[in-house]
Amino acid sequence: MFSVESDFMPFDKEYQDECLLCRMINKKEPCDIVMESKKYLAIYYTVSRNIGHTLVFPKKHCKRYEEIQDKTSFYNFIDSVHNEIVCIYEPDSTSIKINNGSESGQLMSHICCHIIPHYKV
Ligand SMILES: [Zn+2]
Repeated sequence: MFSVESDFMPFDKEYQDECLLCRMINKKEPCDIVMESKKYLAIYYTVSRNIGHTLVFPKKHCKRYEEIQDKTSFYNFIDSVHNEIVCIYEPDSTSIKINNGSESGQLMSHICCHIIPHYKV
């Protein structure tokens, strides 16, 4: 079975001072930005096998889904990013998912939403 999580390794690096996604937010680590707002950032998940796979996350560090303050604005941002990805890559279908906790497949310490385009083979 195909596992998106098996591709996580380069994004699984942890630092003492702040997490990898916070380092990207603070421009200490390079990333490929899809869309940015005052509160949220969307970047290409460059190690994914799915072209256009994007990570969307709050700029304020949150480990768990429950810590996200304004979910309505988060979902509005996710929706804008999803529209952009669909427009650019024209996938046959998409997955929009949030892994909340290690048992669900969350490997990074910063909560994020995956937008994963899928293509007919
Ligand atoms: Zn963080």
